[in-house]
Amino acid sequence: MIGLLGFLVLFGAGRWLGWAARWVWLAAWGWLLVLLLAHAPYMPPELGAFVGGDLRGWFLLGALAAVIMVYRAGLSRLRRRVAPPAAGAAARPGTFSAVERERYARHILLREIGGPGQKSLKSARVLVVGAGGLGSPALLYLAASGVGVIGVIDDDVVEGSNLQRQIIHADARIGMPKVFSAEIAMKALNPFIEVRPYRRRLDESVVADLVADYDLVLDGTDNFDTRYLVNRVCAAAGKPLIAAAITQWEGQISVYDPARGGPCFECVFPQRPAPGMVPTCAEAGVAAPLPGVIGAMMAMEAIKLLTGAGEGLRGRLVIHDALYAETRVIGVKPRAGCAACGGGG
Ligand SMILES: [Zn+2]
Repeated sequence: MIGLLGFLVLFGAGRWLGWAARWVWLAAWGWLLVLLLAHAPYMPPELGAFVGGDLRGWFLLGALAAVIMVYRAGLSRLRRRVAPPAAGAAARPGTFSAVERERYARHILLREIGGPGQKSLKSARVLVVGAGGLGSPALLYLAASGVGVIGVIDDDVVEGSNLQRQIIHADARIGMPKVFSAEIAMKALNPFIEVRPYRRRLDESVVADLVADYDLVLDGTDNFDTRYLVNRVCAAAGKPLIAAAITQWEGQISVYDPARGGPCFECVFPQRPAPGMVPTCAEAGVAAPLPGVIGAMMAMEAIKLLTGAGEGLRGRLVIHDALYAETRVIGVKPRAGCAACGGGG
């Protein structure tokens, strides 16, 4: 009786405490050995009576368990041989499968990224607001780079007029919600990442919870309400924000990180433009590769920030004039009394 009770306690405790299955089994084999020894011919018979059963019974139980284990091991080996790991079957967290190592080899070669940097990317969670012009290249490069979890939020559907610059979408996906279209393209490019599509507008009711789930936020919307809202929530949560904007031939980008000494978006742009003052791409037009240039810079800043490589754009604003091929970098500082971050740093 004690013998059987021992197994019950072992498996129960193993499950309760979350032990790995192989340790529970090892302990079970150990207990069986104790039971067998208790019935060994040179042991006092009282001991055998205490644990219960007899030598032959316990031996048979052990043999049966061994047969089952061998059968199951053979079966799982057969399964592995029949079905190679799915393309998306990632290795354990923090480790890379051989296929992943090959995929990221050019990153791992870089002194500033290397294996540790690539691991940081894999364990990173990045939220991209907007799957439009800037979001397209940013999302694709984040996916290709191997950022482990990429969230994307947008409430639009793909339209024909988007495809002149929103290269993450495709003609065949016109009418599909942009977040699902983006998910298809990203998973096709890199099945080793997780994409979380949120088909909705980013508003007050969800923004704080959503931002809390991520390490870093990229904002490429052309909606001023959203820009100021995302900035305030990121500043309050201490999350860095990479925000960019484009119109016609010109784009700008910076990293807003008041928690680490930089200004926030509202420090640099305290005056919200009056509605209608800043024309959107739909109203003013935009050169097709411009969001590609600036959106790729957003992804670049994200990779640098997540791996600690180089010098990011914290405290610097890049203004790129594509029409004259000129780029200016201007220093930006926290603004005392900023309503979003306090400006004190
Ligand atoms: Zn501020």
